[in-house]
Amino acid sequence: MPHVMKNRFSIVALVAAASFAFAGCKAPESGSSATVGKPQPVVQPSVGLQERFGDEIVVAGHFYRIGTPVVTWMDPGGYDAYRVERRFEPYEESGWEATTQAMGAGKVKWESKNQQFSPMRYSMRYGSPQAATQRFTPRELEQVRGGGWPLPLLQKTIDQFVLHYDVAGTSRNCFDVLHDGRGLSVQFMLDLDGTIYQTLDVKERAWQATISNNRSIGIEIANIGSYGINSTQAPLEQWYKKDAEGKTYIAIPDRLGGLSSQRTNPSVLRPARNDAVVEEIQGVKQRMYDLTPQQYAALIKLTAALCDVFPKIRPDYPRDASGKLINHALSEKEWEQYQGVMGHYHVQKNKSDPGSAFQWDLVIDGARAELAARRGSPLAKK
Ligand SMILES: [Zn+2]
Repeated sequence: MPHVMKNRFSIVALVAAASFAFAGCKAPESGSSATVGKPQPVVQPSVGLQERFGDEIVVAGHFYRIGTPVVTWMDPGGYDAYRVERRFEPYEESGWEATTQAMGAGKVKWESKNQQFSPMRYSMRYGSPQAATQRFTPRELEQVRGGGWPLPLLQKTIDQFVLHYDVAGTSRNCFDVLHDGRGLSVQFMLDLDGTIYQTLDVKERAWQATISNNRSIGIEIANIGSYGINSTQAPLEQWYKKDAEGKTYIAIPDRLGGLSSQRTNPSVLRPARNDAVVEEIQGVKQRMYDLTPQQYAALIKLTAALCDVFPKIRPDYPRDASGKLINHALSEKEWEQYQGVMGHYHVQKNKSDPGSAFQWDLVIDGARAELAARRGSPLAKK
């Protein structure tokens, strides 16, 4: 989603991130097959600490284990959209007061659409005075205005899961652009190595998809994006290179930390398909490299979990009468009625994410299979 890239990079958060290990991803010790595939607690529970496994998302204060690594805003190395300071500025210049002074002096350009110098990058679902009084009983409003959503009320409220690519390339750069630069937010980010970052409880109304913000959860998937075949291909040429064997790999620029920007320190990252994929979106043929296999695996787990905990989000994508993927924005009426997984381009005519290479069937079929396994049913189709 963001269109701006910045150049700053600090090793501090990466060191912190690397220290947060998800035991399920560690290579098993030789000869100890008993530990294979069994996530171990992040901290050995003692003195009454709640066990954490590093694969939990947070839903109205509840932890839900999704079976793939998640770094929440509360964890070392996480990205916290509740904080008002700028995450990547020099520490002494990062506070809200220092930031507003710098804005007043014209030294900081705040790119929020609202143009309001507000410390808030998120808000309450259906939180405008008119919407809130229509939507909630006085008792419900009294509960949610304090941030404390009852899960059943949240389950009635959320019915869309909106997928974005970030055009920032890495989750770290995405948070820099959204939080420090544009005054925006998103509940989840999905990095190239498959790490999911949760920046806000899903109860919050993140600012990610305009008219869908009240009713949706959003995810920014790390990918440099899709480009009209007649426009510049420079970002694709910069981010995707071929090795001696002709296999495509992702060349994360040094200014963004290269491969060390990824929590799991991978030795190489490749798109799921070797060549760029051309498909039409919003009536324009677009070219894009696919997500990584690690991203698909993680996205399937998260999609299944969200469809499980929010029954109104159907594990499906917008289809036409013949069952084919709709490759443009929905009409107002279609959008109103749609409940399920969708792209940002289904919400807005001026968007193309999650892009021409995105494999909808892979994600939806995978999520349905995962849901069926979780629910112990052979189907769980809809
Ligand atoms: Zn977007």
